[in-house]
Amino acid sequence: MNVHEYQAKSIMRKFGIALLKGKTAKSVDEAVKAAEEMGGKVWVVKAQIHAGGRGKGGGVKLAKSIDEVRKYASEILGMTLVTHQTGPEGKLVNTLLIEEGCEIDHEYYVGIVLDRATGRVTMMASIDGGMDIEKVAKETPEKIIKGAIDPAVGFTPYVGRKLAHGMGMTGDTVKKASKFMKALYDLYMESDCTIAEINPLVTTKSGDVLALDAKLNFDDNALFRHPDIEEMRDISEESEKELEATKYGLNYISLDGSIGCMVNGAGLAMGTMDIIELKGGSPANFLDVGGAATKETVQKAFEIILSDANVKCILVNIFGGIMKCDIIANGVVGAAKDLGIKVPLVVRLEGTNVALGKKILNESGLDIIAAEDLGDAADKAVKAAKEA
Ligand code: GDP
Ligand code: MN
Repeated sequence: MNVHEYQAKSIMRKFGIALLKGKTAKSVDEAVKAAEEMGGKVWVVKAQIHAGGRGKGGGVKLAKSIDEVRKYASEILGMTLVTHQTGPEGKLVNTLLIEEGCEIDHEYYVGIVLDRATGRVTMMASIDGGMDIEKVAKETPEKIIKGAIDPAVGFTPYVGRKLAHGMGMTGDTVKKASKFMKALYDLYMESDCTIAEINPLVTTKSGDVLALDAKLNFDDNALFRHPDIEEMRDISEESEKELEATKYGLNYISLDGSIGCMVNGAGLAMGTMDIIELKGGSPANFLDVGGAATKETVQKAFEIILSDANVKCILVNIFGGIMKCDIIANGVVGAAKDLGIKVPLVVRLEGTNVALGKKILNESGLDIIAAEDLGDAADKAVKAAKEA
């Protein structure tokens, strides 16, 4: 689960991470009022959407007067902000964060993720933070330094110093940055984050170390432990297809390939995606219809898969265990007829009542490409997707 910057910052504040004063606003008047109440001479008007790259897209503006706060707030509120992370359709801005400004001395990057290769929570840092961090990662990856954290030991001052020195910091700044990183690590662990990222982390002319931006992602499977965080969910920012799937008990994750997958069981779904890749194709989604799929859930699954315009072919891969093959075959035939599926449909069935299942498919009059085994199914799906 993703949250907005202002929400991430409210969590960070609890962990003692140094931040600027800020207030949210949903109207231009509220934005002006927030700036007046905070006082000062400089404010930053920031669009709140679940995507980065807002600065480059025109969603972050520095205002040097109340009139400018008013001007930028009216420009940004209600705009459809397009950034490299939103896709071309962009995202509608309905909330602003008005923050007091600060005099930036330097912009750094600090982030935490789980590094699956080493199996360690890993903190990354760079002297070249700010709006071009993707370019730094691509062109000068040596400028991103890493510190793996031993779960038995936790975050040690050594890791903090190593990263702060690696970012070129000296003296008192090293101490402040190290304290900052420790707080971010504690937040990451205690809140069950999957990503905690601060870009930019800045040093100011007055010697402070502050988070100007904040991005937190949480492990959905651990949200039951954090009702306060779950309350921050903004479903208007989430994939409609994924929300719809949840309602029907389907585990659906949309991806960017061309082969729609309908599979029962998470492990089989993963295996199906792997073999599609192995055969030179690319899955459009992960979809586990579960062990108790009915004609209705199968139909819903088809609808969700087909609502993705990138889908050129559908691969149904079902192992009939608890769920018998004839029931699935009836579900597939019923759904295919009702929905008028126009893309090629490759079906591989195995397990209980497989002969009956195949008979139902053969006699349906539908243009179904039957597959012998999973390798054959993947070959046929990849070929069909390429020809489409
Ligand atoms: P992002 O583009 O979505 O990552 O949004 P950020 O919150 O990172 O803002 C983009 C850029 O705006 C930052 O890299 C800073 O250069 C600038 N910025 C953000 N907040 C402030 C601020 O308080 N003062 C000043 N001077 N610049 C800021
Ligand atoms: Mn940023």
